Amino acid sequence: MQKRPGNKFAMSIAGSMILLVAGAAVFWGYNAEKSKSHQSTTFVMDTLVTQTAYGPNAQAAMREVNIALADFEKRLTLFSKESDVARINLAAGRESVEVAPETAALIQQSVQLSQQSDNAFAITIAPLTMAWGVTTDSPRVVPPEEIQSLLELVDDSAVKIEGNRVGLERTGMALDLGGIAKGASCSLIQEIYFKNKVESGIVSIGGNIYVRGNKPDGSDFRVGFRNPYEGEMSYIASFSMPDKVMAVSGGYERFFEENGQRYIHIIDPRTGMPAVSDILSVGVVDQDGAVADFYSTTLFVWGKEKTLDFMRNGGSVIMLDQENTLYVSKSLEESFSMHDSAKDKYTLIFI
Ligand code: AMP
Ligand code: MG
Repeated sequence: MQKRPGNKFAMSIAGSMILLVAGAAVFWGYNAEKSKSHQSTTFVMDTLVTQTAYGPNAQAAMREVNIALADFEKRLTLFSKESDVARINLAAGRESVEVAPETAALIQQSVQLSQQSDNAFAITIAPLTMAWGVTTDSPRVVPPEEIQSLLELVDDSAVKIEGNRVGLERTGMALDLGGIAKGASCSLIQEIYFKNKVESGIVSIGGNIYVRGNKPDGSDFRVGFRNPYEGEMSYIASFSMPDKVMAVSGGYERFFEENGQRYIHIIDPRTGMPAVSDILSVGVVDQDGAVADFYSTTLFVWGKEKTLDFMRNGGSVIMLDQENTLYVSKSLEESFSMHDSAKDKYTLIFI
């Protein structure tokens, strides 16, 4: 039989069509998977951790993050005798102890950072945080004489680190990494997201937010800043910060009251008293979560004027003061927007 010349041609067109349709389906499937969002919620370091991540590897990465965070807490907690930090504290004044390399590295970074805090930040604050017990079930007002003797134990220069061995020079000294740990854990999350090729996600750990990349459609994730006294969902402004961490500190969440006086969980190492600040809430944005967290606590203790100086020197900060003025670093201005409902109530100043 004679072949019609068009036959082969028609077949090859049909073949191409099938390939095209199949290709489109695969492409569509890939895109759908790439933009599919996955959620995970867990409770660690005394706070809620929520992850939203996109793409085919998101679930595996989030599971890995949850395991890593549990391990992170296990190394740093003060509530177990076996943690790296607890063992360092128990051996204070006697000997140094071998800890996980990650623990030693975080302590090293903390000690270096606290040198920049002008005595506002100290990981050796533990004797005082424990005495005040603000985050425990039995907080108490610590008498002045006791404060004075405990203050002698607050000294980050007496933390000795050699390789993975960490020691505290004097008996009674102790470490509390609560001011930096949550932010530091964001670096861990970042590492796991990168390793798993998660390109898109947003994580909240207490007051700290880590943003991975952009949304799958290319638009920015918006991070909200809220007035802590106006409820969980009352955001007054939002902005974007791809691949950065924002740590927020304030005296609104953890405190106790006695005789009309409020005592908060951040202790001023210069006085041994719970910090009294003219800042309501302060957020610091940095690539390094530990740095952001260190500064959020430090700036709160520093107060408004010194924080404004820090902003003038290039720090990326959002600060709300007691008079409803919101100070925002120019570095965040481009994507920054006030919510309509907040525009009349707050004064916005870019520094
Ligand atoms: P943050 O919420 O990041 O401001 O950290 C507050 C936590 O840091 C407290 O619950 C304590 O565990 C710890 N902390 C309190 N005061 C200080 C301080 N002056 N320097 C370092 N850490 C502190
Ligand atoms: Mg902090």
